[in-house]
Amino acid sequence: MSHVLIIGAGGVGSVVAHKCAQLPEVFTSITLASRTLSKCEAIAASVKERTGVEIATAALDADKVLETVALLERIKPDLLLNVALPYQDLPLMDACLEYGVDYLDTANYEPPDVAKFEYKWQWAYRDRFKKRGIMALLGSGFDPGVTNVFTAWAAKHHFDEIHLLDIIDCNAGDHGQAFATNFNPEINIREITQRGRYFEHGEWVKTDPLSWSMTFDFPEGIGPKKCYLMYHEELESLVQNIKGLKRARFWMTFSEQYLTHLRVLENVGMTRIDPVSFQGREIVPIQFLKAVLPEPASLGPLTKGRTCIGCLMRGIQDGKEKQLYIYNICSHEEAYREVGSQAISYTTGVPAMIGAKMMLEGKWKQPGVWNMEEFDPDPFMEDLNRYGLPWTLVTMP
Ligand code: NDP
Repeated sequence: MSHVLIIGAGGVGSVVAHKCAQLPEVFTSITLASRTLSKCEAIAASVKERTGVEIATAALDADKVLETVALLERIKPDLLLNVALPYQDLPLMDACLEYGVDYLDTANYEPPDVAKFEYKWQWAYRDRFKKRGIMALLGSGFDPGVTNVFTAWAAKHHFDEIHLLDIIDCNAGDHGQAFATNFNPEINIREITQRGRYFEHGEWVKTDPLSWSMTFDFPEGIGPKKCYLMYHEELESLVQNIKGLKRARFWMTFSEQYLTHLRVLENVGMTRIDPVSFQGREIVPIQFLKAVLPEPASLGPLTKGRTCIGCLMRGIQDGKEKQLYIYNICSHEEAYREVGSQAISYTTGVPAMIGAKMMLEGKWKQPGVWNMEEFDPDPFMEDLNRYGLPWTLVTMP
């Protein structure tokens, strides 16, 4: 008997709701709460139609701690699963502390007024969560999330030490729009326009935004694609938790068309995150931009093709050098057929469901605040194969 409270009725929230409903033996009761009630209701109707499961809905402003505590007191869930925006991470962790319930998210906290991708704010809750006897699992999406688990699994079974890690995220899909982002546009553009950063020999090396690229030949017919070096939050925890790492980098593919649009939007100031005065009131340009771009959830029926996200690792085992590549390929069309969403939401929502399942089944359960690679990767890897994100391991020359 487990009751999960999902917060956030966007692209990812919809996938999480559908996937949890497919497992009534684990998630016996589901409540979906978000700022806009009608979005929760539309998802609940789709869940009912596809799985026959009824889920409860609620309106909630998750920035307001007392409002969340009141909802927790009313519905008494066993887990709060946060797939709203990174801005809500801290108020929701405060509410979990106040009421006393476990917490899970898929993206690290960001202060709205400065695009910083650091775990320091959430790691600062470690002692309080421990003392309260509750657990927080951070970053249970694909990247962060599955990429952390892939690395931990390789470290456990295939290496004595991993020395070089490259996380490579490819979206080889096409939605046919001139410019759109596959998850929340504000969060996505804030991340991509930051300076790049990678870890080498114990230090962080900074690069100009999207100034480094390489071509990687993706498997199973996807073929060679240009990938750009970016900073990504899982690097911060992985370099602490995976012993022996000498270099860790993150790469993502972007089409020329996407980059050209982004460059123009940046040049004209539309990606700014500071307020500007407009017709007597203050607006934040990137928030206005979000309002005119397609909603990520609307891309579901339009997107064709596949994603391929994986970890390329080099290290030693029994004194010998080896190189491995572990990846998942996910089809946008198949994800849409199954849950009505494109693969970016799907590849985030499935691991969020599996992380919740690990906690509710007691496989990953310890008071405190944890990153994904700190738990036994084996049951999570098994569930990826079982619930829609099968992975492949390749030994590279
Ligand atoms: P969306 O913008 O589609 O959805 C976000 C939802 O959160 C919306 O329904 C929004 O409500 C709701 N929301 C926003 N603010 C509040 C609030 N104050 N109170 C209650 N609800 C609120 O985003 P996505 O679904 O694409 O992304 C969800 C999360 O997943 C993000 O944090 C994103 O960073 C993360 N993510 C993680 C990935 C990973 O691999 N780890 C990959 C992709 C995304 P409303 O619609 O009313 O505004």
